[in-house]
Amino acid sequence: MSETGRWLAEPDDESRPYFDAMRVSKLRLQRCDDCSTWFFPFHKRCQNCGSTSLSWADASGRGTIFSHARLRREYHPRHADRLPLVIAWIDLDEGVRMASNIVDVEPDEVRVGQRVAVDFERFPEDAPAFGDLVPVFRILGD
Ligand SMILES: [Zn+2]
Repeated sequence: MSETGRWLAEPDDESRPYFDAMRVSKLRLQRCDDCSTWFFPFHKRCQNCGSTSLSWADASGRGTIFSHARLRREYHPRHADRLPLVIAWIDLDEGVRMASNIVDVEPDEVRVGQRVAVDFERFPEDAPAFGDLVPVFRILGD
């Protein structure tokens, strides 16, 4: 498969801690050492206070659905036999917003404001990035 057909971006020095953590089922994000602001995606400088002293820390993996939609067309082999797949913007408790899938739910049951928790989905065996995990979210029960 061509490079453009890869299932995950190739980590670079800046993003490697995120991908390394994902492989052990952890959602690890950058946090400013000076003002404690969290970031996603990656930055070299704090977007709040300008500090260049940033560290990686494990996020809670909990958040709230900000918005959601249904993917009805297969754009990626991972979508096969799963449509419609719920895609969502999730506001993590750390204050960052990330896009992901809401899995194991009927699309009609997904609502803005629902609490969700991260989980990690392994790619199929025939995926070029076999062994890698991708973060997805599940609705939390009451
Ligand atoms: Zn800062």
